Amino acid sequence: MPRVPTKLVTWEEIVDWSRGLANIIKKSGWRPDVIVAVARGGYVPARLLCDFLGVENLLSIQSQHWTEAAKAEERAILRFPYVVDMRDKRILIVDDIVDTGDTLITAEKFIRENWYPLDVKKAALQWISSVAKIKPDYYYIEVKEWVWFQYPWTRLEDVTSFIKRMISEEAKNGRIAWTFNDIVSSFREWYGIDVDKIYYEDALENLIEMGFLDRKDNLYIIKL
Ligand code: ADP
Repeated sequence: MPRVPTKLVTWEEIVDWSRGLANIIKKSGWRPDVIVAVARGGYVPARLLCDFLGVENLLSIQSQHWTEAAKAEERAILRFPYVVDMRDKRILIVDDIVDTGDTLITAEKFIRENWYPLDVKKAALQWISSVAKIKPDYYYIEVKEWVWFQYPWTRLEDVTSFIKRMISEEAKNGRIAWTFNDIVSSFREWYGIDVDKIYYEDALENLIEMGFLDRKDNLYIIKL
């Protein structure tokens, strides 16, 4: 059993899921005039929905998680809260996944209060029904048990942080030096997924650049 439940998602699956989501939207009889991608996770699904639904108007808003100093709790805020006039437009807000739901709640509230659209609906490729505060109007896959979906557009970022976490945890057990093959086999064990070799190589370069690892001969050594 992997220690962190993770599922690798391929580009092919993303295209299939986006097509499936577009078909659900079409069948509902509702059509958007404008698609708003929630950056950054919503970019690729939103672009594919434009293609499958024949929508030309695509814009984006960016959400960021903000940890309030006094509380452990996180909340979503918008990074660049610009205002546009959408008085005669039907808007579809698109994200990759609804996890807590905070991102879509924040995005919808901002758009309704500031852009004055005719209508707003929310869509996501995946909806984690056991944890989300909201159900999007449209989704393709209902996820019942929380897992981390390793989407193709965050592969390097995720592999970098996954390796960092694994090496930090193992350092607590006294393990400070790793070969490349050690890292790859432990990564598979920890996360239950595998990625192309180039991602491990690039992630390790990132970790060296970040000052987290040193490379000596064939070994990667955690900087303590
Ligand atoms: P939401 O507010 O939409 O529930 P979060 O705010 O928790 O989602 O997360 C924001 C972004 O983080 C998501 O749009 C997605 O890109 C990424 N994310 C969150 N949960 C997951 C997950 N379980 N698997 C992969 N990516 C995730």
